Amino acid sequence: MFLTFIGGAGTVTGSKTLIESDGHRLLVDCGLFQGTSDDRARNWEPFPVDPQRIDAVLLTHAHLDHCGYLPALVRDGFVGPVYCTPATADLVAIVLRDSAHLQEEDAAWARRKGFSRHANPRPLYDTNDAERAIQLLRPRPFHEDFAAVDGVMAEFEPGGHILGSSVLRLREDGDRPRTVVFSGDLGRPSHPLLVPPPPPADADAVVIESTYGDRVHEDVTTGLEDLARTIRETIRRGGTVVIPAFAVDRTEVLLKALKDLRDQQRIPAVPVWVDSPMALATLSVYTRAIAAGEPEFRSEVLAEGVGILDLDDLHEARTPQESMDLDRPGAKIIISASGMASGGRVVHHLKALLPDPRNTVVLVGFQAFGTHGRALAEGAEQLKIHGQYVKVRAEVVSVPVFSVHGDAEELLAWLRSAGSVPDNVFVIHGEVGSSTAFADRVRAELDVCAVVPKPGERVRV
Ligand SMILES: [Zn+2]
Repeated sequence: MFLTFIGGAGTVTGSKTLIESDGHRLLVDCGLFQGTSDDRARNWEPFPVDPQRIDAVLLTHAHLDHCGYLPALVRDGFVGPVYCTPATADLVAIVLRDSAHLQEEDAAWARRKGFSRHANPRPLYDTNDAERAIQLLRPRPFHEDFAAVDGVMAEFEPGGHILGSSVLRLREDGDRPRTVVFSGDLGRPSHPLLVPPPPPADADAVVIESTYGDRVHEDVTTGLEDLARTIRETIRRGGTVVIPAFAVDRTEVLLKALKDLRDQQRIPAVPVWVDSPMALATLSVYTRAIAAGEPEFRSEVLAEGVGILDLDDLHEARTPQESMDLDRPGAKIIISASGMASGGRVVHHLKALLPDPRNTVVLVGFQAFGTHGRALAEGAEQLKIHGQYVKVRAEVVSVPVFSVHGDAEELLAWLRSAGSVPDNVFVIHGEVGSSTAFADRVRAELDVCAVVPKPGERVRV
């Protein structure tokens, strides 16, 4: 079996690994590159393998950096099945429709305002491509072996990162059977809604993410108090708290935290707005799954039921006008996508809210290099938004406690929890420093080959 690391190698986005086995080709994840314009330009390069010659795609979860390239692959000729868990299929449909819509909107907006470097900006793919990709989704439940192609069996195990997220095991049969485990994005044992990922299956090779491969997260109590204090102070001065949040999962985790803080009277009762049609659609997938008693959820979450995400004074901004009205001054909390402020409605909020020192931007997730979120996290005094410079006077606070990625200790503990140590560990899905630091630790502590594959590198397992 051969693995080629097409995307997500030495970077946090664009996850794609090609598997070749006995003349068959599989693609594990099909993510979009995000971040700097150089990163995004990679989405426009010709795919390194003719998409028509790929037999099947397997998706570990529904985040855009793992599934967002799929419509482009379909546009270029891929017609095979796309395997993923049932909840991932529900969420991927939401994410791809939103992505196509956003790209169409951004292209139209750039054309109207004339700030693009391109004379005639066009979307990477459109709604029609996204719909065709959605038609190819073939849900497979957790813990069930199925043939991904002849001679390669696959199985999804819960990944604990977002609803439906999985750790994927591929087993190549034959006289020299080989097994490879893909961590996907690996959740934290402390995810407030989901159960932790089980130990990985015994494998010859493990391909593991390393978003936080060089860091240890702050403890949950400190993080929640940081958030509560930030909200109290912003509300006291009559400001708006804007939280860029991944629509999938982070919004749910935040709503639960805000509900807990309010129940404990640690934050004042101000309106909370969820301003992302995608986040609202996602929320209903989560509440349906909780109501159905899905075992991915923690027992205490299932015991409490859908009320766990139900905040008094929760509002939904569905139309663009409702969204724009939120930028009037006043005490409130806005949760809006995208999570790295690289696109979507939150960018418009930042443009309107950053110049006012009463307001606060709370960053709750990983901020990739090149995004507005990263610039704010690093203390930018001005931002270029839609071609125009905007002064940053608002307070900017990072509260990484909401990360749904394991930190270095948690990733290592998961690797160690396998019944036997793999021969090879491939460290992907991290910025180079983070991936390298984690590979060094794996090599030193587990005494195995651990490498950060170069983009495009092909290895034999
Ligand atoms: Zn993810």
